[in-house]
Amino acid sequence: MLKGKTALVTGSTSGIGLGIALSLAREGVNIVLNGFGDAEGPRAEVAALGVKVGYHGADMSRAADIAELMAYAEREFGGVDILVNNAGIQHVAPVQDFPPERWDAIIAINLSSAFHTTRLALPTMQKKGWGRIINVASVHGLVASAQKSAYVAAKHGLVGFTKSVALETATSPVTVNAICPGWVLTPLVQKQVDARAAADGVDNEEAKRRLLAEKQPSLQFTTPEQLGALTVFLCSEAAANVRGQAWSLDGGWTAQ
Ligand code: NAD
Repeated sequence: MLKGKTALVTGSTSGIGLGIALSLAREGVNIVLNGFGDAEGPRAEVAALGVKVGYHGADMSRAADIAELMAYAEREFGGVDILVNNAGIQHVAPVQDFPPERWDAIIAINLSSAFHTTRLALPTMQKKGWGRIINVASVHGLVASAQKSAYVAAKHGLVGFTKSVALETATSPVTVNAICPGWVLTPLVQKQVDARAAADGVDNEEAKRRLLAEKQPSLQFTTPEQLGALTVFLCSEAAANVRGQAWSLDGGWTAQ
């Protein structure tokens, strides 16, 4: 039922975004990729699944870039049916040492970008009579950790934004939900594993074990494939009345 639809996945040249893009492509969904770094590898991986794939390198911290990205999707793909707001960055520091420009970047990329893509995508979804907006929040949209004030503020904001837009669209065929992963072993988290290994004087494996043991009771990383499967479910007809939820996939993190 998703075959031939178009998904824009922001921040999909790596990690979770790429995993979600591949899962949607396996269902026959055309994909607009976005993100920094190597785009050709991800583009080839998605194209190998037999769907149409595009790429736009918009910097998601810039509203003008986002407008260009949405115009590109409209022009080349006839608009976005599935919007996955996934681009995100992290910075770890106590609040008194937190660089103000890092705060601004985290709020812009992890939160405000979802406002800009949503406001531009929604009219086309309403006109076409179907749409799915999925915001990749985090366990940090539901609970906090020390030294992540900007990230926690942005992700709590994203969960709140999700609920508000879900209410505005509640009687329409567009659903809006958030997904809340716990630890996923992507480049974003590997940096924190490296910092932990350096701080504790342990190797990579032990640093991963300690990171998990502190927060994630399953002691297993969530995978991009699992997040992709959850996204496909939220796009299905079975999920048509799932609205405004913040759906955790966190190995028990927020059950504690
Ligand atoms: P990642 O670093 O592997 O990927 C981030 C993606 O965002 C990359 O494609 C990168 O190029 C892109 N990006 C970064 N800044 C951008 C910008 N200004 N404009 C456009 N693209 C930009 O990270 P990830 O772990 O896959 O994270 C993806 C999302 O999942 C983020 O929103 C993150 O907060 C969230 N998340 C991650 C975890 C985890 O444990 N890894 C847990 C919960 C939530």
